[in-house]
Amino acid sequence: MCIDLHTHSLYSDGTCAPDELVALASRIGLCALALTDHDTMEGVAESQALGRKAGIRVISGVEISATLRQHVLHILGYGIDPGDEDFRRWLQPLQEGRQRRNMAILRNLQGMGIRIDQEELERVSPQGQSGRPHIARLLVEKGVVDSADAAFHQYLGRGKPAWAPRFSYSAVEAITRVHRAGGLAVLAHPGQLDPSLRLQGILIAELSRKGLDGVEAWYPSHTKKTRKRLQALASRHGLIVTGGSDFHGANKPTIRLAGDNPAFCPPDALLEDLQARLSRECC
Ligand code: AMP
Ligand code: ZN
Ligand code: FE
Ligand code: FE
Repeated sequence: MCIDLHTHSLYSDGTCAPDELVALASRIGLCALALTDHDTMEGVAESQALGRKAGIRVISGVEISATLRQHVLHILGYGIDPGDEDFRRWLQPLQEGRQRRNMAILRNLQGMGIRIDQEELERVSPQGQSGRPHIARLLVEKGVVDSADAAFHQYLGRGKPAWAPRFSYSAVEAITRVHRAGGLAVLAHPGQLDPSLRLQGILIAELSRKGLDGVEAWYPSHTKKTRKRLQALASRHGLIVTGGSDFHGANKPTIRLAGDNPAFCPPDALLEDLQARLSRECC
Protein backbone atom coordinates (compact mmCIF):
# COMPACT_ATOMS: atom_id res chain seq x y z
CA MET A 1 0.00 0.00 0.00
CA CYS A 2 1.06 3.59 -0.63
CA ILE A 3 1.53 6.40 1.86
CA ASP A 4 1.89 10.12 1.20
CA LEU A 5 3.87 12.05 3.79
CA HIS A 6 4.02 15.42 2.02
CA THR A 7 0.82 17.32 1.19
CA HIS A 8 -0.44 20.91 1.35
CA SER A 9 -3.93 22.17 2.12
CA LEU A 10 -5.53 25.58 1.82
CA TYR A 11 -3.96 26.41 5.19
CA SER A 12 -0.90 27.15 3.06
CA ASP A 13 -0.69 27.07 -0.74
CA GLY A 14 -2.70 23.95 -1.52
CA THR A 15 -6.31 24.24 -2.69
CA CYS A 16 -7.98 21.36 -0.80
CA ALA A 17 -9.60 21.76 2.59
CA PRO A 18 -8.63 18.99 5.04
CA ASP A 19 -11.94 17.17 4.42
CA GLU A 20 -11.29 17.10 0.65
CA LEU A 21 -7.74 15.89 1.18
CA VAL A 22 -8.79 13.08 3.53
CA ALA A 23 -11.68 12.08 1.22
CA LEU A 24 -9.30 11.96 -1.76
CA ALA A 25 -6.78 9.87 0.17
CA SER A 26 -9.56 7.55 1.25
CA ARG A 27 -10.84 7.14 -2.32
CA ILE A 28 -7.34 6.31 -3.54
CA GLY A 29 -6.90 3.83 -0.68
CA LEU A 30 -3.85 5.41 1.00
CA CYS A 31 -3.17 3.97 4.41
CA ALA A 32 -1.47 7.09 5.75
CA LEU A 33 -1.19 10.74 4.93
CA ALA A 34 0.79 13.60 6.46
CA LEU A 35 -0.33 17.21 6.17
CA THR A 36 2.83 19.33 5.81
CA ASP A 37 1.70 22.90 5.20
CA HIS A 38 4.33 25.64 4.88
CA ASP A 39 5.22 27.16 8.27
CA THR A 40 1.86 26.30 9.89
CA MET A 41 0.16 23.41 11.66
CA GLU A 42 -3.27 25.03 11.57
CA GLY A 43 -4.93 22.24 9.55
CA VAL A 44 -3.38 19.29 11.37
CA ALA A 45 -5.81 18.63 14.24
CA GLU A 46 -8.81 18.91 11.91
CA SER A 47 -7.21 16.51 9.41
CA GLN A 48 -6.36 14.02 12.14
CA ALA A 49 -9.95 14.03 13.43
CA LEU A 50 -11.25 13.50 9.87
CA GLY A 51 -8.66 10.78 9.28
CA ARG A 52 -9.84 8.88 12.36
CA LYS A 53 -13.39 8.83 10.97
CA ALA A 54 -12.24 7.77 7.50
CA GLY A 55 -9.83 5.09 8.80
CA ILE A 56 -6.69 6.82 7.48
CA ARG A 57 -3.71 7.56 9.68
CA VAL A 58 -3.00 11.28 9.46
CA ILE A 59 0.50 12.09 10.67
CA SER A 60 1.09 15.54 12.04
CA GLY A 61 3.47 17.53 9.84
CA VAL A 62 4.84 20.92 8.86
CA GLU A 63 7.27 22.12 6.15
CA ILE A 64 9.71 24.75 7.36
CA SER A 65 11.78 26.88 4.98
CA ALA A 66 15.29 27.23 6.41
CA THR A 67 18.79 28.13 5.30
CA LEU A 68 22.19 26.51 5.40
CA ARG A 69 24.74 29.06 4.19
CA GLN A 70 23.47 30.10 0.72
CA HIS A 71 21.17 27.09 0.39
CA VAL A 72 17.42 27.27 0.98
CA LEU A 73 16.27 23.97 2.46
CA HIS A 74 12.83 22.70 3.33
CA ILE A 75 12.72 20.75 6.58
CA LEU A 76 9.70 18.55 7.24
CA GLY A 77 8.75 18.17 10.90
CA TYR A 78 6.75 15.04 11.79
CA GLY A 79 4.94 13.96 14.93
CA ILE A 80 4.70 17.36 16.63
CA ASP A 81 1.62 18.01 18.76
CA PRO A 82 -0.33 20.64 16.75
CA GLY A 83 -1.37 22.23 20.05
CA ASP A 84 2.24 22.74 21.22
CA GLU A 85 2.19 26.42 22.17
CA ASP A 86 5.98 26.86 22.23
CA PHE A 87 6.31 25.48 18.74
CA ARG A 88 3.41 27.58 17.46
CA ARG A 89 5.05 30.68 18.88
CA TRP A 90 8.30 29.70 17.21
CA LEU A 91 6.47 29.53 13.85
CA GLN A 92 5.03 33.04 14.21
CA PRO A 93 8.05 35.01 12.90
CA LEU A 94 7.97 32.81 9.79
CA GLN A 95 4.30 33.64 9.29
CA GLU A 96 4.85 37.37 9.84
CA GLY A 97 7.84 37.22 7.48
CA ARG A 98 5.59 35.74 4.81
CA GLN A 99 3.09 38.58 5.17
CA ARG A 100 5.80 41.22 4.94
CA ARG A 101 7.38 39.49 1.95
CA ASN A 102 4.04 39.20 0.12
CA MET A 103 3.47 42.93 0.55
CA ALA A 104 6.98 43.64 -0.75
CA ILE A 105 6.33 41.45 -3.81
CA LEU A 106 3.04 43.26 -4.50
CA ARG A 107 4.87 46.61 -4.24
CA ASN A 108 7.57 45.37 -6.62
CA LEU A 109 4.92 44.26 -9.09
CA GLN A 110 3.17 47.60 -8.79
CA GLY A 111 6.46 49.31 -9.60
CA MET A 112 6.45 47.29 -12.81
CA GLY A 113 2.90 48.41 -13.62
CA ILE A 114 1.20 45.21 -12.44
CA ARG A 115 -1.48 45.92 -9.87
CA ILE A 116 -2.53 43.22 -7.42
CA ASP A 117 -4.06 44.38 -4.17
CA GLN A 118 -4.21 42.75 -0.77
CA GLU A 119 -7.94 41.94 -1.18
CA GLU A 120 -7.22 39.95 -4.33
CA LEU A 121 -4.55 37.98 -2.50
CA GLU A 122 -7.01 37.27 0.32
CA ARG A 123 -9.56 36.05 -2.21
CA VAL A 124 -7.25 33.34 -3.57
CA SER A 125 -5.83 32.61 -0.12
CA PRO A 126 -8.74 33.01 2.28
CA GLN A 127 -7.04 31.28 5.22
CA GLY A 128 -3.68 30.23 6.53
CA GLN A 129 -0.35 31.14 5.00
CA SER A 130 -0.12 32.91 1.64
CA GLY A 131 2.83 32.45 -0.63
CA ARG A 132 4.19 33.06 -4.08
CA PRO A 133 2.00 30.34 -5.68
CA HIS A 134 -1.05 32.47 -4.77
CA ILE A 135 0.50 35.54 -6.39
CA ALA A 136 1.45 33.39 -9.38
CA ARG A 137 -2.18 32.34 -9.71
CA LEU A 138 -3.31 35.97 -9.80
CA LEU A 139 -0.70 36.79 -12.43
CA VAL A 140 -2.14 33.97 -14.57
CA GLU A 141 -5.75 35.10 -13.91
CA LYS A 142 -4.86 38.63 -14.99
CA GLY A 143 -3.27 37.36 -18.17
CA VAL A 144 0.17 38.75 -17.24
CA VAL A 145 1.68 35.28 -17.77
CA ASP A 146 0.19 32.08 -19.07
CA SER A 147 1.37 29.68 -16.35
CA ALA A 148 2.51 29.62 -12.72
CA ASP A 149 5.87 28.40 -13.96
CA ALA A 150 6.21 31.48 -16.17
CA ALA A 151 5.22 33.68 -13.21
CA PHE A 152 8.14 32.23 -11.20
CA HIS A 153 10.55 32.45 -14.12
CA GLN A 154 9.72 36.02 -15.05
CA TYR A 155 8.76 37.64 -11.74
CA LEU A 156 8.68 35.64 -8.52
CA GLY A 157 11.63 33.25 -8.52
CA ARG A 158 14.67 34.01 -6.36
CA GLY A 159 16.52 37.00 -7.86
CA LYS A 160 13.75 37.81 -10.38
CA PRO A 161 12.43 41.40 -10.54
CA ALA A 162 9.47 41.06 -8.13
CA TRP A 163 11.21 38.68 -5.72
CA ALA A 164 11.75 39.77 -2.14
CA PRO A 165 13.60 37.96 0.65
CA ARG A 166 11.88 36.79 3.80
CA PHE A 167 12.85 35.84 7.31
CA SER A 168 13.91 32.25 7.83
CA TYR A 169 15.64 30.28 10.56
CA SER A 170 18.81 28.34 10.02
CA ALA A 171 18.38 24.64 9.25
CA VAL A 172 20.14 23.78 12.52
CA GLU A 173 17.68 25.88 14.51
CA ALA A 174 14.76 24.27 12.65
CA ILE A 175 16.05 20.76 13.43
CA THR A 176 16.65 21.66 17.07
CA ARG A 177 13.18 23.15 17.54
CA VAL A 178 11.47 20.23 15.82
CA HIS A 179 13.28 17.92 18.26
CA ARG A 180 12.40 20.08 21.23
CA ALA A 181 8.74 19.72 20.21
CA GLY A 182 9.16 15.92 20.16
CA GLY A 183 9.22 15.65 16.36
CA LEU A 184 11.46 14.27 13.64
CA ALA A 185 13.26 16.50 11.12
CA VAL A 186 13.42 15.28 7.53
CA LEU A 187 15.08 16.98 4.55
CA ALA A 188 12.37 17.57 1.89
CA HIS A 189 12.93 16.92 -1.83
CA PRO A 190 16.75 16.78 -1.61
CA GLY A 191 16.95 16.11 -5.35
CA GLN A 192 16.14 19.77 -5.96
CA LEU A 193 19.34 20.92 -4.24
CA ASP A 194 21.60 19.80 -7.06
CA PRO A 195 20.58 17.88 -10.18
CA SER A 196 24.12 16.51 -10.48
CA LEU A 197 23.73 14.97 -6.99
CA ARG A 198 27.10 16.25 -5.79
CA LEU A 199 25.85 18.60 -3.07
CA GLN A 200 23.52 16.11 -1.38
CA GLY A 201 26.35 14.02 0.10
CA ILE A 202 27.95 17.07 1.72
CA LEU A 203 24.75 18.67 3.02
CA ILE A 204 23.20 15.45 4.33
CA ALA A 205 26.43 14.54 6.17
CA GLU A 206 26.52 18.00 7.72
CA LEU A 207 22.83 18.00 8.67
CA SER A 208 22.94 14.51 10.10
CA ARG A 209 25.69 15.66 12.47
CA LYS A 210 23.25 18.38 13.57
CA GLY A 211 20.49 15.86 14.29
CA LEU A 212 18.63 15.41 10.99
CA ASP A 213 16.46 12.29 11.23
CA GLY A 214 15.62 11.48 7.65
CA VAL A 215 15.58 12.25 3.94
CA GLU A 216 12.63 12.36 1.58
CA ALA A 217 14.04 9.95 -0.98
CA TRP A 218 10.63 9.20 -2.52
CA TYR A 219 9.51 12.31 -4.39
CA PRO A 220 7.75 12.48 -7.78
CA SER A 221 10.48 14.39 -9.59
CA HIS A 222 13.31 12.19 -8.25
CA THR A 223 14.64 9.72 -10.79
CA LYS A 224 15.29 6.18 -9.65
CA LYS A 225 19.00 7.04 -9.58
CA THR A 226 18.32 10.01 -7.28
CA ARG A 227 16.18 7.90 -4.96
CA LYS A 228 18.82 5.16 -4.77
CA ARG A 229 21.54 7.71 -4.04
CA LEU A 230 19.45 9.27 -1.27
CA GLN A 231 18.61 5.86 0.19
CA ALA A 232 22.32 5.04 0.25
CA LEU A 233 23.11 8.34 1.98
CA ALA A 234 20.34 7.69 4.53
CA SER A 235 21.71 4.29 5.27
CA ARG A 236 25.28 5.62 5.59
CA HIS A 237 24.21 8.22 8.15
CA GLY A 238 21.60 6.16 10.02
CA LEU A 239 18.67 8.25 8.76
CA ILE A 240 15.14 7.15 7.95
CA VAL A 241 13.71 7.44 4.43
CA THR A 242 10.34 9.09 3.82
CA GLY A 243 8.26 9.89 0.77
CA GLY A 244 5.49 12.14 -0.40
CA SER A 245 4.01 13.78 -3.46
CA ASP A 246 4.04 17.49 -2.40
CA PHE A 247 0.40 17.62 -3.48
CA HIS A 248 -0.93 21.22 -3.80
CA GLY A 249 -4.33 20.50 -5.45
CA ALA A 250 -5.21 22.86 -8.31
CA ASN A 251 -2.22 25.10 -7.53
CA LYS A 252 0.04 22.39 -9.01
CA PRO A 253 -2.35 20.41 -11.18
CA THR A 254 0.24 17.99 -12.55
CA ILE A 255 1.08 16.67 -9.06
CA ARG A 256 -1.29 13.97 -7.86
CA LEU A 257 -1.43 12.26 -4.50
CA ALA A 258 0.69 9.12 -4.12
CA GLY A 259 -1.25 6.12 -5.37
CA ASP A 260 -3.36 8.38 -7.61
CA ASN A 261 -0.30 8.57 -9.80
CA PRO A 262 0.39 4.89 -10.50
CA ALA A 263 4.08 5.62 -11.01
CA PHE A 264 4.49 7.03 -7.52
CA CYS A 265 3.87 4.91 -4.44
CA PRO A 266 6.07 5.35 -1.35
CA PRO A 267 5.62 2.01 0.46
CA ASP A 268 3.85 1.82 3.82
CA ALA A 269 6.92 0.09 5.30
CA LEU A 270 8.50 3.55 5.54
CA LEU A 271 5.96 4.42 8.18
CA GLU A 272 7.23 1.75 10.58
CA ASP A 273 10.71 3.29 10.55
CA LEU A 274 9.25 6.74 11.13
CA GLN A 275 7.09 5.48 13.97
CA ALA A 276 10.00 3.57 15.54
CA ARG A 277 12.23 6.62 15.41
CA LEU A 278 9.49 8.84 16.83
CA SER A 279 9.05 6.61 19.86
CA ARG A 280 12.84 6.55 20.32
CA GLU A 281 12.88 10.35 20.16
CA CYS A 282 10.08 11.00 22.58
CA CYS A 283 10.91 8.54 25.48
P1 AMP B 1 6.88 30.53 -0.94
O1 AMP B 1 6.31 29.57 0.06
O2 AMP B 1 6.10 31.78 -1.07
O3 AMP B 1 8.36 30.78 -0.76
O4 AMP B 1 6.75 29.78 -2.35
C1 AMP B 1 7.29 28.51 -2.46
C2 AMP B 1 6.34 27.64 -3.20
O5 AMP B 1 6.43 27.99 -4.58
C3 AMP B 1 6.67 26.14 -3.11
O6 AMP B 1 5.49 25.39 -2.93
C4 AMP B 1 7.26 25.85 -4.45
O7 AMP B 1 7.03 24.53 -4.84
C5 AMP B 1 6.53 26.82 -5.36
N1 AMP B 1 7.32 27.05 -6.57
C6 AMP B 1 8.63 27.34 -6.65
N2 AMP B 1 9.01 27.49 -7.96
C7 AMP B 1 7.89 27.26 -8.71
C8 AMP B 1 7.63 27.23 -10.11
N3 AMP B 1 8.61 27.47 -11.01
N4 AMP B 1 6.36 26.99 -10.53
C9 AMP B 1 5.37 26.75 -9.62
N5 AMP B 1 5.57 26.75 -8.28
C10 AMP B 1 6.81 27.00 -7.83
ZN1 ZN C 1 3.90 24.97 -1.50
FE1 FE D 1 9.08 22.27 -0.38
FE1 FE E 1 5.88 21.07 0.02
